[in-house]
Formats: sequence, structure tokens, C-alpha cells
Amino acid sequence: MSTQQNAPLAESVEERNAVVRLLLHAEVLTAEQVCYARRVAAKLYVQRSLCDVLIELGYVTREQIHQAVQENQEKLRLGELLNGLGYLSDEELARALKIQAREDRRFKLGEILIQHKFLSEDKLTEILALQLGLPILDLTTHDPDVQLVTRCPLDYYGQHRFIPFDVQEGAIRIAFVDPLDARCLEAAKVYFGQNIIRCMVRNSHFDDWLIKAKDNAQTGVVSEDTRHNVVDIANTIILNAVQRDASDIHVEPMVDRVRVRFRQDGVLVPFRDYPVAVCAPLTSRFKIMCGADIAEKRRHQDGRLIFNHMNVQIDLRMSFYVTVYGEQIVMRLLKNQEELLPVSEIGMLPNMLERFMLDALDAPSGVMMITGPTGSGKSTTVYSSINYLNRPEVSIITAEDPVEYKVRGIGQCSINPAIGLTFEETLKHIVRQDPDIVVVGEVRDSFSAEMCIQTALTGHKVLTTFHTEDSIGCLVRLLDMDIEPFLVSSTVSCIIAQRLMRRICQKCAMPHQPDLIQLRRLGCTYGDLLGAEFQIGKGCPACNFTGYKGRLAAFEMLIPEVYIRDAVLARKTTHELREISISKAGMITLLEDGLVKAAIGKTTVDEVLRTLPRVHKPRPVHELRRILGA
Ligand SMILES: [Zn+2]
Repeated sequence: MSTQQNAPLAESVEERNAVVRLLLHAEVLTAEQVCYARRVAAKLYVQRSLCDVLIELGYVTREQIHQAVQENQEKLRLGELLNGLGYLSDEELARALKIQAREDRRFKLGEILIQHKFLSEDKLTEILALQLGLPILDLTTHDPDVQLVTRCPLDYYGQHRFIPFDVQEGAIRIAFVDPLDARCLEAAKVYFGQNIIRCMVRNSHFDDWLIKAKDNAQTGVVSEDTRHNVVDIANTIILNAVQRDASDIHVEPMVDRVRVRFRQDGVLVPFRDYPVAVCAPLTSRFKIMCGADIAEKRRHQDGRLIFNHMNVQIDLRMSFYVTVYGEQIVMRLLKNQEELLPVSEIGMLPNMLERFMLDALDAPSGVMMITGPTGSGKSTTVYSSINYLNRPEVSIITAEDPVEYKVRGIGQCSINPAIGLTFEETLKHIVRQDPDIVVVGEVRDSFSAEMCIQTALTGHKVLTTFHTEDSIGCLVRLLDMDIEPFLVSSTVSCIIAQRLMRRICQKCAMPHQPDLIQLRRLGCTYGDLLGAEFQIGKGCPACNFTGYKGRLAAFEMLIPEVYIRDAVLARKTTHELREISISKAGMITLLEDGLVKAAIGKTTVDEVLRTLPRVHKPRPVHELRRILGA
């Protein structure tokens, strides 16, 4: 009777000892065995851990415990593991956690255990290395790879307590002080990608290394470069940015260092940190290069230069912005003409591309609008379209701010308000140039919007860009600018909204299943994704361990057909316009286009979620693939 009462009780209460819990779960032990072992342990004069008692009773072996821990390490936290194995009593663990809470969680549990002498550092490192099967890297005999270390700020290492050590067979070995801390692991992945080998480092070795690295950063021996002069540093920065296909270089003075980051595939990636002493001479060097005033340090400045060094020639636009720690410099690397993409290569899926060429590009007149935020790849789409339309028998003329690519055979004008060459002035003159196609850099107010519409009304074709969230937003904004609905509905021939997503590195792509949280954020069920082949990049030297290389656009194309025209004239709401566009005008939303591109392994679900607006539940992937012909 009494055993029957005890047994279900033991099973229903969750086992406190995390290691024993794993063994119960793996069915190595039964609840009765654990119950019995606890009673035995309570009667012993010498305090023994539950695991030791279980071993002595012959219920489990050390190897089985070892195996259970290794197989389930992501489920264990440091305190639980030490407590479970009997290295830390319940009371000691509670005390250590209390100290951690009292000190505002400024220290990790491992640090507290060592500082407050619960365990020696050597003992702690050995237990973890043995139990988790991880190698211990010795910082006293080997220095971490400088190229890897400079990839991320020193404070970040201090905060997350890890060091990138070296590259082995394409994977980065990273040494963690606490290899069980999931947050530290995630933090390391942010800079070093998925493809990492977990290792361990002693707490004190880590601290010594960090102090030394910070000292070096201040006195100026952080890397090879700083021993050379600033001319070399400046050249190194630009050459590396060109080599990595970066679009911008950021040189940011901070309180204790100068941080250099590159914008690669739309995301800022740390390049190197330089000692603070380099800041002033480096700024002067860049100013000399681009013809800015080196004596002026209190005002923002601009400059431009053609960088020509070691067979690299690139057009750079520089901006110097005065901050509290010095001048922050941002350089844009302007692209050259040969990088113009044919329309077929801007990344539209087959059926959308066909419709874009037939109904938009080949239409004789009307306004084509490309919309999206800054950095969404609008210029690429505009220039590719210009390239497509550029034939000997047509005249194309542009008003741009500024001209980004030079295209042979067309009249391009850079707006320059400083000398009175404004948009207004230019647009008034443009129609007198007898153009067939007019390109207006950007619609920024109702004046330029009206100019575009008037130009289209007189039988021209107009290409322009706009700043709105999506294609429906573009229609609505035009109406909000007090342009007559009938003018909007009769002249706008095509609206393309777009965003850029990072492309998966082809060298390290591998299959991947989205998890439930991602599904929920997409607004999909597993059924909606049938037939999808999602992938992610594992990270490799080719992609700098980011898992991504290059970018591709997601498009939303709206061709205002009769249903949309009627809806615009009837001044329907944004929501109604969107419903009609999707159900009757064959519109694929940005999210849907992105989802299909993820489903065919070109980008990741994470990128889709990061970059695309989610206003409408996407249709099932197989249906979208049929519509898009992908
Ligand atoms: Zn890769």
C-alpha cells in the first residue's frame, strides 16, 4: 500500500537533480531506484552525492552519466551540472546564485564560484572539459589569431567571455570560459557564424589575455598595421573594403579606440579596431586624399576622390561628421558602369519578369515607380530598366541626385542646389529636350509627383523612385499628395516595391527546417510550406563565416489594371486596395516573393523576417511557386 502511494508521487514531482533527471529521461534509471538511493544517501553519516550513491548501488555507471551529460549539454546550465554531479551542494549553489543576484548579475556563475572559493579554477575547468568532452586551449603558450580577434570589439569579449582562437579545417575554434552558457555561444555566432568549434579556456587566462589586449589597444600594438604609418592604414582599409565588395566604410572614433566597419551585403561588419592615437592622423590623411580642409575640425565636411592604388581604382564619396570623440568618417564606394545588370538578372522570378517586361518596360507611356527605403536596391532596378530601354531610336534624359552610374548614350544631369540647379528648375527644362523617356531621380514632394504625371500625360514614359513601405503605400501616398485620383489611375503604369535580402553562400549552404517561432512570425503553418527546400549557410572562409554572400532583391509588382483603377477612383482604403491587388490583379507581396526565394534556397527565412514587411498572411508556397513559375 505504502509503495503504491510513493511511486506515483516520485514520478510526478520533477527530479531536482538535473543530471539524475537526464538519466531518468533516458530510462537508464527508474523513479524507484532514485527514491531508494535518496533514502540511502539520507542515512549515510558521510555526505555523498546522489550520483555517487547511485553508482555504488550499481544502478548506473560513470560512463553512462558521462554519456548522458555529453549528449544533453545544451539542456544543462553550469550550476545544475556541478550540483547534479555532487561538486556543489544544494546549499552552496543557492548561496552562489544569491551572491550573483546581489552583485546585479555582473559576474557569470563560474567567476563567482572561483572568486568565492567554492571550487578552484583548475578543478572547475577540468570537470567541464572532461564532462563535456571539450579541449582546453592554453593562452600562455599560444596567442589567438590577431585577424580573428580584431573582427569584434574587445569589450564584447569581456561581456561574453570568449576568444576566437584559430581556424581549423574551415571552422573557427572559439574558447569559452563557460561553454554551457547559451547566450555566450549565440554572442560568438553573431560575429563568427555557425561553423565554430567549442573549446574551453581557464577563467584567469581569459582575464589576463583581455587586460593585455586592452593595454595593447591603447598603447598601439594591436596589430601589424599600426606599426606602419597612417598612409598604409588608410590604404589597407580602402583596399580591404574593395576586396570584400563593401558598399561603405565607417571609421568611428570612440573613447578608447577607433573602430572600422564595412557595410557588406547591407549589414555592418567589424573590420578592425585601431588605437585611439591613430584617430587624428588618420582623419587628416583621409581629408588630404579627398581635398577636404584639414584645419577645420569643428564642422561637418564632404569630399570626393578617385582612389588609385595597387591596380585598384575606385570612386569614393567621403563624409566627415563631427562627434564628441572626433570626426566620424563614412565613405561610400561608388560603383562603375560595368556593374549594370541586365533586367533579366535583377532577381525577378520568371513569370514576374515576363510581366515586368511586357506590361511595364515595353508600355509606350505612363509612370513607372520603384519604391522602397534607402538601400533597397532601387537604383539598380532603375539603371537596369534604363539599360533595357536604351536603344538608338529613343532619347532618354535624366535628373538625378546625384548621377550614380554613367550610362552611355543618354543625357544625365546631376542636381546641384548649391548653384541653383534644383529639381524644380531641371524638371521644367527637361521636357523641352524632346525626350521619349524621362528619368526623375526621386519623387520627393507633390511638385515632382505632378511633374511626373504631367510628363506621362503628354505621352512620355517616366521612370522614378519613391520612398514608401510597399506598392499600395505608394498609390496611397500619391493620392495623399492631392493628386486627382483619375490622374493617378490613368498614368501610373507600374509600381515596384523592393527590399534587399542577403543571399546564402553557395559554398556552405545546407538544408534547414524553420522552427515554430519562425513559422508563427511568417504567419504560416507547416502545411503552407510543403515542397519548400529551405537552406542556411553554415559559414566558411568564402563568406567570412557569415553564411551569406551577395544580395538579392524581393519584389512586389503592382500593375494597376481595371480593378485597381476603379478602386483608386472609388478611394478605397489601403486594406481594400491590398485585398483587390492580391485577389484580382495578381499581385505577389514582398513577403510572398521573399518566402519563395527562401523556399528555393536563395536566402534564409531569417533574412525574410528581418527585411520584409509582414502585413498580409502569405499564400501557401506551392501556390506561389506556380504563380511565379519558380
Ligand atoms: Zn560560406
